[in-house]
Amino acid sequence: MQLSNYHSHCTFCDGRSLPEDFIKFAISNGFRAYGFSSHSPLPFETFWNMPKDDMPEYLQEIERLKQKYSDQLEIYVGLEIDYLDKTYNASIPYFRELPLDYRIGSIHFIPMSEHLIEANMVCIDGSFNNYAYSVKKYFNNDIRLLVKKYFETTIDMVEAGGIDIVGHMDKIYMNGQKYTDFSFSEDWYQTPFRECLHLIGEKGLMVEINTKNFLKKHELYPHIEYLSLLQELNIPVMVNSDCHYPQLVNDGRKEAFELLKKTGFKSTRELVNGKWQDVAI
Ligand SMILES: [Zn+2]
Ligand SMILES: [Zn+2]
Repeated sequence: MQLSNYHSHCTFCDGRSLPEDFIKFAISNGFRAYGFSSHSPLPFETFWNMPKDDMPEYLQEIERLKQKYSDQLEIYVGLEIDYLDKTYNASIPYFRELPLDYRIGSIHFIPMSEHLIEANMVCIDGSFNNYAYSVKKYFNNDIRLLVKKYFETTIDMVEAGGIDIVGHMDKIYMNGQKYTDFSFSEDWYQTPFRECLHLIGEKGLMVEINTKNFLKKHELYPHIEYLSLLQELNIPVMVNSDCHYPQLVNDGRKEAFELLKKTGFKSTRELVNGKWQDVAI
C-alpha cells in the first residue's frame, strides 16, 4: 500500500486546519508523499474556493514546508481546478503559468448561462436540497438530463486539458442516486460514463480513487463497480482521501488498496522525486 495523498484541502480554501497540521499527521503516520490541492480561485467568491489574492501566499507556504520537512516527507503543491466552461478551466494561461507540481480537474459547478456568477451555477457537490432545487429548475426534474450534462462537461474538461488527474469523476451520483429513476446500469448512465473513461484513457490522464465518503457512506468515486473497467482500460490510478481534516488524511486508504488489489491493479501512479511513476502495490 502506498502512503501518499495528492488531494487535500487546508485553511487556504475550505480545509479545517493549517497545511502544517496535515504534514505533521502524514509524517506521524509514515507517509512518503503528500500533496495539497486547494480549490482553485473562481470568477466569483464561494465559501470553499481560494481567493486569487491568496495564491502567492499559498505557493510560498507550501514551499516553506517543502524545505522544512525535506528529510521526512516529499511535499507537493497542486490545485483542484474547477472546470466551469470553455472560458474558465485548467487550460487557461492563469492556471498553466502557476508553478504547480500537478493539477486535478474537477467539476463542482455547471453554469446554466454564459454569465459566470454563482447564481447561474448548478452545484453538484453540495447538499441534496440545493441539488434537487437545481434539477427541478433547470432539468425538468429529470435526473437523467443532469447526468447527461455532467458527463458532457467531463468530456469538455478532458478535451480542454491542462490537468493531470481527473478528480472524483462520477461525483454526480452522490446526490443523483437519491432519485428513484436513477440507475447505474441503464444506457443513459453507462454510455456517457464509458465514453468519458475511454477519452481519459486516450489522453493518458490519471483518475483518482477518491475515498472521501468511503468509510462514512461506502461510496467510492469512481463507483466500486467500475474499478475493473479502469483496470481493463489501463488507466493509471492513485488513492486520494480528499481530506479537509488532518485526522482524515488516511481515511479509507487501506480499504481502497484492498479493492484495487482484488480488481487486479498491480500498481498506482505516484510522484517520486517529482516524477510520476508506476509503483507496485
Ligand atoms: Zn472536489
Ligand atoms: Zn477536493
